Amino acid sequence: MLDFSTIVNILEQMEQTTSRIELTNYLVTLFKNTPSELIDKIIYLIQGKIRPDYEGIEMGIAEKMIIKIISQISDISSSKAYQKYHEIGDLGSVAETILKNKIQTTLFHEKVTMERIYLTFDKISKITGKGSQEIKLKLFASLFNDSSPEECKYIIRFALGTLRLGIAESTIMDALALAFTSDKKNRKILESAYNVSSDLGRVSKILANQGLKAVSAIKIELFIPIRPMLAERVRTAKDALEKSAGKAAVEFKIDGERVQIHKTDKKVQIFSRSLENVTHYYPDVAEASRTINFKNIIIEAEVVAINKNTEEFLPFQELMHRRRKHDIKKIMENYPVFVNVFDILYASGKDKTNLPYIERRELLKEVITKSVDRRLSLIQQRIVGTVKELEKFIAKAIENGCEGVMVKQINSAYRAGAREFAWIKIKREYRSELADTLDLVIIGGSYGRGRRVGKYGALLLAVYDKKENVFKSVCKVGSGFTDEVLEELFKELGKYMIPKKHPRVYSKLDMDSWFVPTIVIEIIASEITLSPEYDAGMNSIREGFGLSLRFPKFTKKIRLDKNPQDITEETELVEMYRKQRNIKL
Ligand code: AMP
Repeated sequence: MLDFSTIVNILEQMEQTTSRIELTNYLVTLFKNTPSELIDKIIYLIQGKIRPDYEGIEMGIAEKMIIKIISQISDISSSKAYQKYHEIGDLGSVAETILKNKIQTTLFHEKVTMERIYLTFDKISKITGKGSQEIKLKLFASLFNDSSPEECKYIIRFALGTLRLGIAESTIMDALALAFTSDKKNRKILESAYNVSSDLGRVSKILANQGLKAVSAIKIELFIPIRPMLAERVRTAKDALEKSAGKAAVEFKIDGERVQIHKTDKKVQIFSRSLENVTHYYPDVAEASRTINFKNIIIEAEVVAINKNTEEFLPFQELMHRRRKHDIKKIMENYPVFVNVFDILYASGKDKTNLPYIERRELLKEVITKSVDRRLSLIQQRIVGTVKELEKFIAKAIENGCEGVMVKQINSAYRAGAREFAWIKIKREYRSELADTLDLVIIGGSYGRGRRVGKYGALLLAVYDKKENVFKSVCKVGSGFTDEVLEELFKELGKYMIPKKHPRVYSKLDMDSWFVPTIVIEIIASEITLSPEYDAGMNSIREGFGLSLRFPKFTKKIRLDKNPQDITEETELVEMYRKQRNIKL
């Protein structure tokens, strides 16, 4: 048993600090105080979830419901509670303030334990169908009735995933290593296990119950997605080849959605880049994968929408129809896809990630020739040894409707969850503009004039600071939007509007609206500039200056497949700036 009040005490202290070292130390205390059978649950709640992402389990608690509960258990009307929310900007604190003023009428309290909170959340996540809102409400209310105002504050924050303590996953792993092995260096082992299991709760539970050795034994398993390997960027073909020691494999970089396909004789499951199970969006991809006559495999591919008649690749946004509409059968007919396979991570019951690229490619060839479905094919590839050869291949890729190429080191293993130079992306824009597009999250908006009255004239965008787990403003963008996209964004952004700047957002600018950082869009720009107005990269190049983008333009891609944690990071932006100026590190 673990009294929730013990956790609340630690959380209250954590709230007073922004120092990563102090946060880590508090987490260590928290983990040491947690019975081993509860450690996974604490980890999930800190991460703002109740199960690992790939299970797709959500509590489905809306802010509106919390407001209703607050109003029910206090004597305050919903509209008053809502008004308070506008003033304070955090529903947890709203509940705390209101309940502190309420005269305590309940005589008997059942103690609120961590188990009880987690079990209630778990129950809530499983309730569906008619009347489910009412039942959820009752379950919540009973928890609140037994809780102190401070406890209510954190229960709400856990439920909404808005703990806002700035705890990054790397900090959690540091603290786990310290709490259970007394050595921060062991975080590397935890990280590897996390990269193949995508479940930090499970890693922590094994660590607490069976020790570090058992954690290192965590292996790739079918139907549990692996955190994807990511690519670095360079400016020219020459740089790419130099980074690859003069010889590399180049592949088409197709403008589609990355998928990880897990397959046995009986079952196929497809996971997105952010580890979400997306099998239901792609019944055709699953069908094509079933035809592979090879046992137990995990492969990675880029799924791309094609023109029904000419079979040419279509831009990424055509794929997003699959996310939006319900009639998947019709969508499959109108927007068919090709599956371009580029890697293999597991085959015949064995982990293949440690094989060098070139051997994985051979194996992949063998596997794919065993498919009879023409929608599934090996991604186009060539081994190159000169800049000329590489440039020729880039030209071919562009001609074929690709967004660029991926340059891959021939001898490199598959490094789950890592962004390194073993994979390098070169996009077609690299000649004239920035070496790459940026994925940025929308954090604010200002209202438009003229044709855009009543909609946003410009959107404020941010990069991600992974270390602090915050979003830092980088530019305003107003160009590249069609009326149709603007309309859609306006509707979508409405769901995430908040009265004040989000607590995890850094921005000096004053905006008409603020949003919970959720919606990711792709931006192209001509260069990165120094600017005192924006917070991204503040002081990293010059004192008092941050970084911004010159002539930013929306590429018309709303990246529904990316979470805000997957966007361009602040460190990448600084790196891109240095590359652009040729400033050596
Ligand atoms: P980016 O999202 O711009 O960082 O680029 C990396 C993405 O390119 C991957 O996540 C894949 O979705 C996509 N991609 C397209 N073709 C390939 C390929 N041949 N190898 C690896 N990734 C690819």
